[in-house]
Amino acid sequence: MGNDLAAFAKENGVKYFMISYTDLFGGQRAKLVPAQAIADMQKDGAGFAGFATWLDLTPAHPDMLAVPDPASAIQLPWKPDVAWVAANCIMDDKEVEQAPRNTLRRLIAEAATDGMHVKTGVEAEFFLISPDGSVISDKYDTASKPCYDQQAVMRRYDVIAEICDHMLALGWSPYQNDHEDANGQFEMNWAFDDVLATADKHSFFKFMVKSVAEKHGLRATFMPKPFQGLTGNGCHAHISVWDKAGKTNVFADNAMELGLSAKGKNFLGGIMKHASALAAITNPTVNSYKRINAPRTISGATWAPNTVTWTGNNRTHMVRVPGPGRFELRLPDGAANPYLLQAVIIAAGLDGIRSKADPGKRYDIDMYQHGHTVKGAPKLPLNLLDALREYDKDKSLKAALGEEFSSAYLKLKHQEWNSYASHFTQWERDHTLDI
Ligand code: ADP
Ligand code: MG
Ligand code: MG
Repeated sequence: MGNDLAAFAKENGVKYFMISYTDLFGGQRAKLVPAQAIADMQKDGAGFAGFATWLDLTPAHPDMLAVPDPASAIQLPWKPDVAWVAANCIMDDKEVEQAPRNTLRRLIAEAATDGMHVKTGVEAEFFLISPDGSVISDKYDTASKPCYDQQAVMRRYDVIAEICDHMLALGWSPYQNDHEDANGQFEMNWAFDDVLATADKHSFFKFMVKSVAEKHGLRATFMPKPFQGLTGNGCHAHISVWDKAGKTNVFADNAMELGLSAKGKNFLGGIMKHASALAAITNPTVNSYKRINAPRTISGATWAPNTVTWTGNNRTHMVRVPGPGRFELRLPDGAANPYLLQAVIIAAGLDGIRSKADPGKRYDIDMYQHGHTVKGAPKLPLNLLDALREYDKDKSLKAALGEEFSSAYLKLKHQEWNSYASHFTQWERDHTLDI
């Protein structure tokens, strides 16, 4: 599309724009703006009371303005009257540092100063569940190894195909859809893109999947571990770095181990070095830590890591190099903020490149069987508090993401942890009443 949202509305019959920004907890916040008012809003932004969302602002702060980025506009395929557009948050004529899309844009600009153009893809797994959230939606989906279940995926054909048709129409180049490893769980894949485009698509994908599921009387959840004993919702990220023009993959070097160039190894080294700290962002909820470090699921494997290790084409490690010129970070989960996920990857990777970080020894073992034989590789944080403390200790990562961002994020996430810790559970009664 061009850059003029009013013209976009006229050409496509759009009646409303949904000017949307993402807060620190990954919540998507929007105002519905009639097309006749969009020209001014495109210039000045839509006003929001920032305190009312998770951005660590106070009620006394001036209005925050969400200025739409026209390059991100998408007419809702399931409701063409409306177009969604991602916005950048401004206050007092300055970018709000802790607003996640700004954080990512800053890191992209930082990478560009080193001639780096990051491209990523994500695999945002989800469950289709009952509207009240208590059970999976398909009572016949009970196999102990349900991955790729042909019959079960066809029972949800109407939902899956509708979402895939929308991705086809949007030109995202989707290429496969499957029933995932847990009962009720699905994955849909589309082609990787420039990192900001992937973050916008990831946000929109979550919105679209939830909306289409609701249309069919279902509910979709990206919660990291919605059901005990079943595989959780991962959100693996695939990463490559290209030259400034985005034409040549500088991670690719067929003469090197696993086809990963020295630059790629250093970027990976940064991810390995900062892994325990970056988990605070890639695994941002209390529930996230029930997916990583989990006991074996009914299907036989969690498919999630518990230790900071890397390998070739082997899905039992935190990082997998599936083929030349890219690697897969298997740590992130469905709760990861689409913008902060990419921002923290760039922050850690850039530090790795600048410090020529060594990713360390590669282990080609089955980590679920033989993980105990690995000596010296750090265990991933066991809970959100551990991860927040690791993040707080990691001065260079905090600085790379921005001091204002880091202090806002840590403050709000500690509050969330404290709210959880002050919650009384049945478990403690069961284990403490008769003590
Ligand atoms: P998996 O084998 O881990 O399930 P998928 O095929 O589900 O992998 O997802 C792979 C993702 O990685 C897709 O989004 C794909 O476009 C993306 N991808 C492939 N090559 C690259 C690359 N060079 N850089 C970044 N992402 C890539
Ligand atoms: Mg996949
Ligand atoms: Mg994967």
